[in-house]
Amino acid sequence: MRLCNVGHEFDYETEKVARIFLPYEKIDIVHERAPGEDAAICTLSRDADGFLAACEVCLSGKKECASERVAGEKSKKSCELAVARCLYRCLSAITGYKSSWGILTGIRPAKLFSALSDKSGAVAAYKIFENEYLCDGGKADLCFKCAQSEKNITGINTPASFSLYVSVPFCPSRCSYCSFVSHSVENAKGIIPDYLRLLKKELEATGKVAARLNLRLETVYVGGGTPTAITADELKDLLFSVRENFDFSNVREFTVEAGRPDTVDLEKLAVIKAAGASRISINPQSMNDAVLRNIGRRHTAQQMTDAFYLAREAGFENINTDLIAGLDGDTFESFKSSLEKILALSPESVTVHSLSVKRAANITRRGEMPGESAGAAAGKMVDYARKTLEENGLFPYYMYRQSKTVGNLENVGYAKPGFEGLYNVYIMDETHTVLACGASAVTKLKEPRGDNIERIFNFKYPYEYINRFDEIISRKRGIEDYYAKHPVFDK
Ligand code: SF4
Repeated sequence: MRLCNVGHEFDYETEKVARIFLPYEKIDIVHERAPGEDAAICTLSRDADGFLAACEVCLSGKKECASERVAGEKSKKSCELAVARCLYRCLSAITGYKSSWGILTGIRPAKLFSALSDKSGAVAAYKIFENEYLCDGGKADLCFKCAQSEKNITGINTPASFSLYVSVPFCPSRCSYCSFVSHSVENAKGIIPDYLRLLKKELEATGKVAARLNLRLETVYVGGGTPTAITADELKDLLFSVRENFDFSNVREFTVEAGRPDTVDLEKLAVIKAAGASRISINPQSMNDAVLRNIGRRHTAQQMTDAFYLAREAGFENINTDLIAGLDGDTFESFKSSLEKILALSPESVTVHSLSVKRAANITRRGEMPGESAGAAAGKMVDYARKTLEENGLFPYYMYRQSKTVGNLENVGYAKPGFEGLYNVYIMDETHTVLACGASAVTKLKEPRGDNIERIFNFKYPYEYINRFDEIISRKRGIEDYYAKHPVFDK
């Protein structure tokens, strides 16, 4: 589609709105009026009474127009939102699709709700979500609840607080929707020992920096990939290296992702337990075997149930499970049944994701994009999940959104009270530093008493990580440089 932005430069905002309706289509932006088939003309003009935002859209043989007056000397933001709303109304009328998030496209809607609520009160925040962003009341309510919970969790931060992330970018096979750098263990067999050897070196170097700076470790997350895809001995070596190199005296949560149920056995669970992990995550994504086959997973729903009971037997009292709404071949009835099977296991937390299909995923390369109606179907699934999980005592505690999500939907973590995944909140809310080790890991340095954030990127792929490891270690010096500029403790 051609997006003609005339009289303004709200390219980012208008493209985001167009993507809600045309997630996988190429969008060309021009700054002149170029009408025609598959074109949207979004204009902003000024007159004696203020500004006029207007849109005309021609798409699939249909035409729609919308306009809105922005009275008086309103801000650039008001004009931007008015143009976005006009485009949204036209595309919604043409496609017949109404997004429950309206034009709200940011990745942290709860943070926006919280900021509005702090400034003008919760009632005003609800109104802004509804009138300015065209967001429905249910989503505003979800933001309200997540904002409350996130505040309680981030409230216990100290200026010295930090979390540690450790990346194990290997999986038993590649899921069709995956856009992560993860390599299959079969293909990566030759490099795993070198990768783990260097990862331990990076942990050692990072641990020394944290100690020199007197930082206070709050949560640890070993993720990937699938950390349990490596052998029990390799996992033991890695987890004990984490313990040896960091001071665990203030750690409130230690999570190990046991992502794929087919990688979980009693030996690995015992290793994780012995290393002191308090929380694991076993993620089936669906409990329908046909759907699991469609997405390239090699395990069954029964293997998930077995892995879950094995984890209980090994003594884990805090288990998270993930589900995805909008998977290839999944229906509302089958999603509902997956959720029921998960609830029968009584996990402490359930994270409900909406399918996000990024360019790198196999599904995109094979041209098997989910249909447009998939958005409405996935919307019904996430709404059902929220209602059912809340009825079963699991409440929303964190939320984030990604680009190109089916139906422009959200990812939400639900937990029984007291079992919220703290690391999930810290990484999303950016309220304390996250030191990250391993391929594709990103260290986020947060100013102890301010909002400044700086990032240090590790190389993305395991072979780059191995070949350019010295550069990784030298980049880590940036941590001390950052804290020299932004000291934790008053001098
Ligand atoms: S388990 Fe996760 S990281 Fe691994 S292939 Fe699947 S989606 Fe990617």
